[in-house]
Amino acid sequence: MIKLVIFDADKTLWDHYNISEFQDPLTLAGRDVVVDSKGRTLSLFPNVRKTLEELRRRGVRLAMATWNFPHKTDKVLKALELYDYFDLIVSRDYPYKFVMISEIIREFRKRNLNLKPEEILFVDDRRAHFGNVWIYVGKVNCLEMWKDISDHLEIISKV
Ligand SMILES: [Mg+2]
Repeated sequence: MIKLVIFDADKTLWDHYNISEFQDPLTLAGRDVVVDSKGRTLSLFPNVRKTLEELRRRGVRLAMATWNFPHKTDKVLKALELYDYFDLIVSRDYPYKFVMISEIIREFRKRNLNLKPEEILFVDDRRAHFGNVWIYVGKVNCLEMWKDISDHLEIISKV
């Protein structure tokens, strides 16, 4: 049974490949579109909001593991009003998802929730991360966005 879903951000939740480039001030152009001061634009993918809502409704914990400067991730999530959906946001200036996932597991343990790797679902648009997750973390369930699934709503049927 899946107790925690961990999401990548860039190209998984939204269409921009690197939100660390975004410069203040951020403005909204519609509920799901963020524009930075240089005109860079990010659009949330369809059904992301609905999927996060439904997972929470079912009592699944949500976390993020993203290679971005933490203050940039926080700003974008707050602009989209998605920040509060996540129990934990791990945003680091390095690409090692297995390190971030280990950190997430440790943090939940501190909160008295012991998660087995099999109880975790990790969603990322880059399959390249999965090998190290399996080697260093264990049998985490991994989904490659746009390959294993093409709509975020499909995640709901996996939990
Ligand atoms: Mg990505």
